[in-house]
Amino acid sequence: MPTTLAATELRGGEFLLRPSDPQTPRFPEDFSEDQDLIRQTVQDFIDTRVRPNLDRIDQLDLEFSRQLLTELGELGIIGIPFPEAYGGSNMDFVTSMLLSELFAQTHSFSTTFNAHTGIGMLPILYFGTPEQKQRYLPELVRGERVAAYCLTEPGSGSDALAAKSQAQLSEDGQHYLLRGQKMWITNAGMADVFIVFAKIDGQHFTGFIVEREWAGISFGEEERKMGIKGSSTRQVFFENVKVPRENLLGEIGKGHKIAFNILNIGRIKLAVGAVGGSKEAADHSIRYALERRQFGQPIAQFGAIQHKLAEQATRIFVVESASYRAAQQIATRKEQLLAEGHSLATALLGAAEAFSIECALLKVQGSEGVAYVVDEGGQLFGGLGCSEEAPMAVLYRDSRINRIFEGTNEINRMLSVDRLIKRSLQGELDLKAALQSMEKASPLGTEVPYAEEKNQLWALKKAFLLLLLHSLQRKGQKMAQEQELLIYLSDWMADVYLAESALLRTEKRQQNEGPAAAEAFLELSQTYLQESLDRCWYRSRRLIAALTVGTAAATLEDRINAILRFPARDVTALRRRIAARLLKAEKYAF
Ligand SMILES: Cc1cc2nc3c(=O)[nH]c(=O)nc-3n(C[C@H](O)[C@H](O)[C@H](O)COP(=O)(O)OP(=O)(O)OC[C@H]3O[C@@H](n4cnc5c(N)ncnc54)[C@H](O)[C@@H]3O)c2cc1C
Repeated sequence: MPTTLAATELRGGEFLLRPSDPQTPRFPEDFSEDQDLIRQTVQDFIDTRVRPNLDRIDQLDLEFSRQLLTELGELGIIGIPFPEAYGGSNMDFVTSMLLSELFAQTHSFSTTFNAHTGIGMLPILYFGTPEQKQRYLPELVRGERVAAYCLTEPGSGSDALAAKSQAQLSEDGQHYLLRGQKMWITNAGMADVFIVFAKIDGQHFTGFIVEREWAGISFGEEERKMGIKGSSTRQVFFENVKVPRENLLGEIGKGHKIAFNILNIGRIKLAVGAVGGSKEAADHSIRYALERRQFGQPIAQFGAIQHKLAEQATRIFVVESASYRAAQQIATRKEQLLAEGHSLATALLGAAEAFSIECALLKVQGSEGVAYVVDEGGQLFGGLGCSEEAPMAVLYRDSRINRIFEGTNEINRMLSVDRLIKRSLQGELDLKAALQSMEKASPLGTEVPYAEEKNQLWALKKAFLLLLLHSLQRKGQKMAQEQELLIYLSDWMADVYLAESALLRTEKRQQNEGPAAAEAFLELSQTYLQESLDRCWYRSRRLIAALTVGTAAATLEDRINAILRFPARDVTALRRRIAARLLKAEKYAF
C-alpha cells in the first residue's frame, strides 16, 4: 500500500518514489510570529516607500533605487539571510523565500534587490575567504554598496563555460590581468562590486571579486528592455583590469561550482517571486472582473472569465505550495549538514544542490505560471489589457524575463531529468526498486483520507517511472539527445511535484483544522490533479510513439492507459466553485 512507504523526510527527487507526510512541510499558513512580523515590516516598506514610486523606479532613477537599498540595509532586511558576523540576522531559508515573494510587488526593483542579495552577494558568502567576507559583506548587508554578477557574454549564455574572458597572473604574481566582455549584467549601472568569471590562462574557469573604481572597467549603454525597465542592465568591459591576487574567489578552475550552485537558490526564489507577482495580477483580475459590465452584467458572471480566474488561482496555489515545501526540505537538509559539522555556506549550498531537481522544476513552473496569470489577466481586461494606464501591461512585460534568466526554461527542463538519471545511475535513487514496489501495491481504500487523489498521484508516479525506465532502455546514453522527450518527462515530474505539494497542504489543513477548512484547498488540488492526469496521458502517447513501434507500442500503451484510467472529475464545476470564492473575497484568498 502506498501509505506503508511513508517517511517523514525525502531526499531530492525522491518525491517520485515515495509518498510524503503532510505534517512535514511548512506552508504559508504555518509561518512563525517572527516571520509574520517580517512580512508586516516589509509590506509597510513596500507600501510606503516603493509602491508610490514605481514610476520613478521604472524611469531608471538609479539614485533612488540605491537609496531604497540603503534604507533596506538600515532596516536589517538585506541582512535577513546573512550571518550576524557580517551584520545580518541569520534567519532561515524559508524567510528568504518570503522576502522574494513580497519583493515581487516592487516590480523592477525586485530584480535589483534579488541580484544584489542573491547572485551578487551569495558567492562571497559561500566561497569567499574570511578576509573577503569581512571586507565586502558588511557594507553590502548595510546596502551602502551594491553587488552584481557577471557570467553571461555575447557568445556564451546558456553555454556559460564557453566564456572568452581571460585572466593572467602578472609576472610579480601580485595580481591578475582581467580582459573580457560581459553582457546583460543586472545592476551594472550602479554596482560597486562585481563577481566576474574568466578563464585563467584561457583554460581554468574561475571567479573574481572586482571593484568598480579599478582602472580598465567600462560600461555599455543601458539596454532598452521590454520589461523590468527600472532595473539597470548593461554590458561590462574589462580591459587589463588589475585584480589583486587576494580577490580570486574560491579555487582556480572551480568557477563553475560558484556559477552553477548559486543558481539553485536563485531558481527556487524566482519561483516564489513569480507567485508574488501572480497574486498581484490575480487581485487586479478579480477586481476588474467584478467592476467591468458587459451585456448588462459584471464580466465575472461569465463562465469564460470564471475559468480564467480559477485557473490563475490554481496555478498560484500549486506553485506556492511546492515552493515552500521545497524551501522547507532545503532548510531541513541544511540543519542536518550543519549538525554534521559543515560550515553555514557549505550546508546551504549542499542542501540546495540536494534539491536541484525540485529547484529546476519550480523555476520553470513559477515562470510559466506567472506568464499564464498575466496573459489571461490582460485578456480579461480587454482593450485595457494593452493600455499602459491599466495595471496589467507592466506586469505582462515585467514577467517575460523569468523564463529566460537563472537558466532558460529549456535548460532547466533538461537539467531536471539529467539530474534524476544521474542520481539513479549513482545509486542514490533506486528507480527500478521503486517501480517494482509500486507494481505490487494495491490501491488505497476509501477509509483513507483523499484516497482517490493519492491513488491518482501514485498512478502518475508509477507511469512516469515505467516510461522513464523504458526510455533509458530504448535509448541508453542517447537519451540525452532526445530533448523533446526529456521535456515531456520533465513536465510530468513537475506535475507530480506540484499536484502532490498541493494535496499535502490540503491534508495538513484537514488534519489540523478539519475537512471544512480544507475544502477550498481540495478544490484547487483536485483541479490541478485532473489536468495533470490528462496532460500526462497525452505525454505518454507522445513518448510511446517516439520510442516504440508495433505490438510493443500497443502493449505499453495499454499498460499506461490501465494505470492512468480514472473517471474524469468535473473540473468545470470545481473551477466555478473556486471562482465563486475569489469573487466573494474580491481578491486571491487562499
Ligand atoms: C534582463 C536580463 C538580466 C540578466 N541579468 C544577468 C546577470 O545579472 N548576470 C549574468 O551573468 N547574466 C544575466 N542575464 C543573462 C541571462 O542569464 C541569459 O540571457 C540566459 O542565460 C540565456 O543566455 P542567452 O541570452 O545567451 O541565450 P542562448 O543561450 O543563446 O539561448 C537561446 C535559446 O536557445 C536555447 N538553448 C540554448 N542552449 C540550448 C540547449 N543546449 N538545448 C536546448 N535549447 C538551448 C535557450 O533555451 C534559448 O531559448 C540577464 C539577461 C537579461 C535579459
